[in-house]
Amino acid sequence: MSPRLEDLPLRADLRGQKPYGAPQAALPVALNVNENTHPVPQAVADDIVDSIALALREVNRYPDREFTALREGFADYLGHGLGRDQIWAANGSNEVLQHILQAFAGPGRSAFGFAPTYSMYPLLTRGTGAEWIAGTRAPDYTIEAAHAAFQVAEASPDVVFLCSPNNPTGTPVGLDVVEAVYDATDGIVVVDEAYFEFAPRDQDSALTLLAGRERLAVSRTMSKAFAFAGARVGYLAADPALIDALRLVRLPYHLSALTQAAAGAALRHAPVMLRMVEEIVVQRNRIAATVEALGYTARDSWTNFLLFGGVDDPATTWQRLYDRGVLIRDVGIPHHLRVTAGTEHETTAFLDALASVGSAP
Ligand SMILES: *Cc1c(COP(=O)(O)O)cnc(C)c1O
Repeated sequence: MSPRLEDLPLRADLRGQKPYGAPQAALPVALNVNENTHPVPQAVADDIVDSIALALREVNRYPDREFTALREGFADYLGHGLGRDQIWAANGSNEVLQHILQAFAGPGRSAFGFAPTYSMYPLLTRGTGAEWIAGTRAPDYTIEAAHAAFQVAEASPDVVFLCSPNNPTGTPVGLDVVEAVYDATDGIVVVDEAYFEFAPRDQDSALTLLAGRERLAVSRTMSKAFAFAGARVGYLAADPALIDALRLVRLPYHLSALTQAAAGAALRHAPVMLRMVEEIVVQRNRIAATVEALGYTARDSWTNFLLFGGVDDPATTWQRLYDRGVLIRDVGIPHHLRVTAGTEHETTAFLDALASVGSAP
């Protein structure tokens, strides 16, 4: 008989834990993991292929361990006067967050976030042997500065995650919350701006708060707005000293030459890559209006997805949509489901399927 997981000498703190498990079903309409469902434009794809071809000629050598050119690209893209010594990157922002936890959390330490929030935070935290502490939000999923600061001061964590705007709820987070939380802790404060490009144009990023806050880090990803989820590239901006801490835990040459080449090429075409963001926001707003008309409650969203409430039985509605070829996400919030804004066609398919399952109260 082949051995089972239970029979292996697994770390005690990992026993009984579940791996990340968003279903990867091959359905015609996949709106469950907040990808940008628009493919990379052909002209950009061609340039990326050329860049990878060039990098391949030297693939017998280890890549630039400091991914200097790519860090410069991210610094330019982010603006705010950032230099490359304030930039870090890895294989997805999940790995960037893991680097932070490896350097600043680990056994005997803790990380904190306001639930419900990104499901990977507790998983990554526990993976480093640290404890996860869940704070609370108002019933509408907002967080208010003084209450947030109070909770963080009480918990006294080593790392705080502020998902802004928040996944899976879509909720915006004010910069006053970031400032208050920062002042309430001696730990690292990570503002995860994975969806920043989908927020209203006039909103300031937490990047504007970096100066003079050496424990603050602002993370971003190319997985959502940039339509680059399959390439696995995330990045962050922080004080150079914080970046130095991440060098202690990364694997040598963690960003392959091919990844660096692909990401660098995509960044050179940032405006084209981001061209679909406004169209996606239109579809998100269309979902909000239509689910309301169907009798559900649309939660405020500054992202490329929408959380809607008033679902009698989310598991049943999820299954009925699945049976109609539409994959969305049951994030475990009672009476709610989450859907990614897709292309106009995909969004229509979802809305038609939802209207036909008819389980609104
Ligand atoms: C999707 C997502 C990420 C991005 O993860 P990658 O590893 O960069 O693909 C990070 N944070 C949040 C909150 C997300 O929803």
